[in-house]
This record gives sequence, structure tokens and C-alpha cells, in this order.
Amino acid sequence: MSKKFDFIVIGGGSGGIAGARRAAEHGARVLLVEHGPLGGTCVNVGCVPKKVMWNTAQVAETLQLASDYGFGVETGGFQWRKLKSARDAYVERLNGIYARNLDGSGVSLVRGTGRFVSDHIVEVDGERYEAPHILVATGGQPTVPDLPGAELGITSDGFFTLAEQPHNVLVIGAGYIAAELAGVLHGLGSQVTILLRKDRLLRSFDHTLHEVLMEQMEAAGIRILRGVSVSGLQRSADGSLGFSASGGDSMHGFDCIIWAIGRQTSVASLALENTGVSLDDDGFIEIDAFQNTSAPGIYAVGDVTRKPPLTPVAIAAARRLSERLFNDRADAMLDYDNIPTVVFSHPPIGTVGLTEEEARERHGDAVRVYQSRFVNMRYAVSAHKPPTVVKLVTVGEEERVVGCHVIGDGADEMLQGFAVAVKMGATKRDFDDTVAIHPTAAEELVTLR
Ligand code: FAD
Ligand code: NDP
Repeated sequence: MSKKFDFIVIGGGSGGIAGARRAAEHGARVLLVEHGPLGGTCVNVGCVPKKVMWNTAQVAETLQLASDYGFGVETGGFQWRKLKSARDAYVERLNGIYARNLDGSGVSLVRGTGRFVSDHIVEVDGERYEAPHILVATGGQPTVPDLPGAELGITSDGFFTLAEQPHNVLVIGAGYIAAELAGVLHGLGSQVTILLRKDRLLRSFDHTLHEVLMEQMEAAGIRILRGVSVSGLQRSADGSLGFSASGGDSMHGFDCIIWAIGRQTSVASLALENTGVSLDDDGFIEIDAFQNTSAPGIYAVGDVTRKPPLTPVAIAAARRLSERLFNDRADAMLDYDNIPTVVFSHPPIGTVGLTEEEARERHGDAVRVYQSRFVNMRYAVSAHKPPTVVKLVTVGEEERVVGCHVIGDGADEMLQGFAVAVKMGATKRDFDDTVAIHPTAAEELVTLR
């Protein structure tokens, strides 16, 4: 006999918890299945501990500026262990809050691995549960390539378990995680090398953003190796780590190597072969605009689908799904256009909409770009003068803003409001008609000429 629910959610991460709680709010009997700590990637090995580390590196940067502002502050003496235990305790508190919130919403929680027996039955540790609606929100995990010695490297998951600060780190990869972890480690005093298989970090971002980021990283002392194809990792006789590359090159002397080359979906444990759910060639669950999979009554949200793998995206998609299924909102669906995103690099990047390249490809000569490069007043009394760059990409006679890109201090907090404007279809004139807030870096976006 299986226990009956209205909605079963597999995966207690960003998307799963949001979908489960919203469905329960509308009166559905909901079961959430999770085999790890509550909160998933974001809370345990993603956004949350990462942001604590980014904040830590920001504090280190501010301490370096302190003497320019007249303070007699001694820097150094950073205690990685102390920070780690405070960070772990914070994450643990969040795990508890998530459990209490689920309980408060009336969601039943089962700890264990959920696997499908059929389209409407899920088994956890031999116990069967049945529902007409089942949401798969099982997320993903870091990719480790199939190369000799690859296991000598860690991933972002391993980064958050490091008990000691590594001193000479190689970060292999070119995306968000490579940019963020390299910035954090360098900010805290580690020697950092980034290895790119191509020539750019954050290749899919607007060219101005990756040009300025790489220029700033190299100016700060991060070494960037371009066009290197790693063929394996090795441990040397002195205990240090190194890599060999396909051209025959090699480099050694690292005490930590981090793979940051992307993530793959967590679907293996689900026994999807017992359902009608289709996967694409890269293992993402195929969905339509309403999060429906190819099996009626089975839905998917978040990193397990080929949608931007960001926490607010998983949450928004899941809540809309629950509104559609349990609150009669037949048309509820997530519009995946103009999703803003921040890379917590040093300096941070905030971006929404089309890159200049995408806009030119779609709209040709109708594109007009406005850009300004300046030094944030934070550095007014400092010899160190890192640039901030703000950029608007507009289209057509009315100059609709289709892209807004910022790199520099404050970009992370600046973008949310500008994303509202872009989403609403604001024009350059609307930006110009908005009175500036002075003196800020954000005002440059409404005074561009
Ligand atoms: P997850 O949060 O991964 O949750 C999936 C859950 O399913 C997990 O808890 C897993 O244990 C569980 N599970 C899997 N299989 C089963 C099974 N068979 N049975 C039971 N449970 C199962 N995004 C941002 O927006 N901002 C950031 O700053 C940011 N920083 C990040 C930093 C790092 C280092 C990483 C790795 C990611 C970051 N992300 C960030 C991305 C963000 O974490 C993910 O997009 C988000 O967590 C996806 O949510 P999800 O619900 O799809 O999956
Ligand atoms: P990304 O997809 O961002 O980047 C990985 C990049 O690594 C690829 O684009 C590729 O770039 C490069 N790469 C792939 N394979 C190899 C290889 N074998 N050797 C060297 N380089 C390789 O993945 P991440 O793991 O950084 O992050 C996963 C996702 O998590 C992100 O896309 C993001 O959505 C989310 N995230 C969000 C954050 C935020 O919101 N701040 C922070 C962290 C993660 P190329 O083709 O140019 O070589």
C-alpha cells in the first residue's frame, strides 16, 4: 500500500522547498523527499557559504584601504578556521530554519533518496508514496572530468570543507565559480592561477565585462593561463600538485587544485527509466514553458532543467508551478527573459538582458551602446584606482534598453532595481528622465551620454 499525497516533491533545495511550501499554503497535502541537508546546493555548498567568503574577502579589501582613510590598522592574521566554523554554524542555523518552515507550512518531510517506481509512485527506503503531481527538483553537482589524476583536484563542494587556507591554488574553469573562488582566495592572500581552456573568463557575458574583469584580476596579481587543455593532474615527490597539458606543457607547485568547469544534473538516483520523462543529450530534464516534462503529472524546475542555474530562477519557477496546480492559476508560468544575475567576483559584476554582441546579432545597426568608465569615490583618497564600468545597450529609434551591464564596487546591489526597469521596457529617455542620486556609482547609469 502506498501513502497518498496531492503533491510529491523530490529534492529539498531552492526550487523544491519553494514549490512544496507554496502548494501547502493552498491546501495541498505535500510530501518533500530529501536525502541531504535541507536547502540544497544554495544553502549548503553554494550561494550562502560563497557569499560569506566573498564578504570576508571584501572585509580584507576594506582593511587594505583603511590606512588611506587615516586609520592605523594592522592587516593580516586572518584565521580561516575561525571563519569556517562561524560560516558552518550559520549554514546549520539555516538548515534548522528550513526544517521549521516546512513544518510550519504543513509539508511532510521524508529523509532518503526518492526513486520512481512509476509515473505516480515514488519509493523512499522501501516505502511507497503516490501522488497525481510529482515535482523533480534534484538540482546538480560539480563536474569532474574523466582524466588521469582528476581526483587530486577538489570542486566547489570540497572548497567549502577546506579546514585550512590553501596558499597556492590552481582554479581550472572559466565560469561563475572559477571567477568567484579565484577572487575570494586571492582577496584572502592565497596565490591564485586560473587556467582557461579558451581565452576568456565568463565568455558568454558582455565583452566589456570579461575584458575589465580579466584586466583587474591580472592587475591584482592573479595569473591567468589561456588556451590550455589539461590532460591530467599529478602529485609530485614533494607532495605538491600539478597538471600536464595536451601540448606537453606542465606546471607544479600547487597545494590545491579546484575544478570549476560546470555542473551536471542529479538524475541518476531517480530511476527515470520507470517513467515517461525524457532527458536531453546532456542529461537535463526536458520541459515545456509550464515546467511539464514529457510524462503527464511529472514536472521539473531548477538546475535539473536547461534553464539558468540560479536560485531565484528555481524558486520562481516552482512557485508558479504550485500556483498553477493548486491555486487555479492556469496561466502561471515563469518568463525566463531578462533574468538579472551577479557574479561575486572582485570586482563584482551585475548584468541583465542582451550583451552587446547578442543585440548586434539580432538588431544590427539599430543598436546603440552607451558606456562610462570611472573610478568609484571609494578610492578618492587612495592610490589604488580600480575602474567601474557601466554600459547600456539600446535598440531602435526609441532606444529601448535591452542590456544593462556593470562591473565595479556595488554592481551586485545596483542591478536589481535596474533589472525592473529593463524588464518593464524602459528606454534610454526613461533613464535620462530619472534624477540621479549623488554621489553614487549607480548615478552613472542615468547620466550616460
Ligand atoms: P538544489 O539546490 O541543488 O537542490 C536539489 C536537492 O535535491 C539537493 O538538496 C539534493 O540533495 C536533493 N536530491 C537530489 N537527488 C535526490 C533524490 N533522488 N532524492 C532526494 N533528494 C535528492 N545561485 C544564485 O542565484 N546566486 C549565487 O550566488 C549562487 N552561488 C552559487 C555558488 C556555488 C558554489 C554553486 C555551486 C551554485 C551557486 N548558485 C547560485 C546556484 C544555485 O545554488 C542553484 O541554482 C540552486 O541551488 C538550484 O536549486 P535546485 O532546487 O534546482 O537544486
Ligand atoms: P559555468 O557553466 O558558469 O562555467 C563553466 C565553464 O568552464 C564553461 O563555460 C567553460 O568555459 C569552462 N570549461 C568547461 N569544461 C572545461 C574543461 N574541461 N576545462 C577547462 N574549462 C572548462 O559553471 P560553474 O561551475 O562555474 O557554475 C555553474 C552554474 O552555477 C553557473 O552557470 C551559475 O548559473 C551558477 N552559479 C551562480 C553563481 C551566482 O549567481 N553568483 C555563482 C556560482 C554558480 P569555456 O567554454 O569558455 O572554456
